[in-house]
Amino acid sequence: MKTIHAELAYEPRKLPSASKLNRARACPGSAVLPQVETSSVYASKGTAVHAFLEAVPTEGRDAALAAVTDEKLRAVLETWDLDQFKHLDRDSFHREQWVSWHPGTDEVKVGFVRPAGEGWMNAKTDLLGLSQGDGAASSAVFIGDWKTGRKALPALASNLQLLAPAVWAARYYQTPEAVVSIIRIHDEGEPYVSEQRLDMFELAQADEELRDLVVAVGTAYDALEVGTQPKLKQGSWCEYCPALTSCPAQMGLVKWMVDAPDEIEERYSQFQLTTEAAPKAYHAWRSMQALMGKITEAITTYARQQDIDIGDGLVYGARPTKTKKLLPEQAKVALVDEFGAEVALRAFDKTSMAAVTKALRPVWEEELKSFENGPWPAGKKPKKPTLKGLTDRASAALNAACAYETKHGSKLDVVKQKKE
Ligand code: SF4
Repeated sequence: MKTIHAELAYEPRKLPSASKLNRARACPGSAVLPQVETSSVYASKGTAVHAFLEAVPTEGRDAALAAVTDEKLRAVLETWDLDQFKHLDRDSFHREQWVSWHPGTDEVKVGFVRPAGEGWMNAKTDLLGLSQGDGAASSAVFIGDWKTGRKALPALASNLQLLAPAVWAARYYQTPEAVVSIIRIHDEGEPYVSEQRLDMFELAQADEELRDLVVAVGTAYDALEVGTQPKLKQGSWCEYCPALTSCPAQMGLVKWMVDAPDEIEERYSQFQLTTEAAPKAYHAWRSMQALMGKITEAITTYARQQDIDIGDGLVYGARPTKTKKLLPEQAKVALVDEFGAEVALRAFDKTSMAAVTKALRPVWEEELKSFENGPWPAGKKPKKPTLKGLTDRASAALNAACAYETKHGSKLDVVKQKKE
């Protein structure tokens, strides 16, 4: 495929990978600000699903299922009808291939490793296929992506994460068309597959958009280099932005919270949600939630290193903790000696003091019965037995048998400031 485009003003700099292109299109500054990569539960679930699908064609379904450690996920994967699933055919679909473009030289590459050297834009594809075309159908590259989670995605025809490798791979294999696909993996039920065929005009349009994006990212780098703020735009794409904590647009609000909390309260006590303001407020709220998670992490990390003086004679900081854990062998011997084998056996489903207390309950109930019914020794009613009395006896026996292991740790807490 040949594209006609304006000469690209290009200087090799680190360019966003395909998975960040949709956000960079909305907010070019996100590609150039310092990034902190984090993982989510969906990312680790996605990795497990990838590993499962990788293993099915080579090791078989049962072995692949047995290797899935997350029981809930395994139960979902067990329900999948894999025979209906064309993407597992290894002859038709390559996995984990890199598709890359160098905006400076306009070269494209496809391979199992990322191209060496600076200035490449890279896309790691989950599925890459090639159909030669027959009859009326033209030859086309296929780019597919497994997606976990429920995050809203751009429509296939405008999803740059897929369009970028589709454009570059179509050029590499010289196919006039491409098919982009998302296989959405939900927590329940079968995956949902969506596909879109793109003709040469749509590919050329996406190619132009990618070139415009490289220029926009270059402009954002230029702004940063002269100490000004790159072009930033807040929106739904901020939620998982790796530049969230270095973003002036987001941090401005946090700084305001720190510097002028009263002003915020005064201004926002008058604020009312309207039909116009609500969508913007929703996105601001979501990105603030993500930001708050990171601020919590920053404050707790700081407090673990040094106390924070929070006024009124109080500090927030790490305090030492001591937890006692039962040693199974020693505890078993001590309980057999004190209460007999039956109690000891009952207590050892889980080696914990809670399990010991549970195991002592029938003993206590028996003691209560005898207490109520009598006869009492020497005709005098004894003290009413309590479960606590029994657990105290157990603790004393366990202590005497050195059946505890003490673990030292720390937890964050608000405490009174120590006097110097
Ligand atoms: S947090 Fe939002 S506004 Fe800030 S860089 Fe990221 S995408 Fe742009």
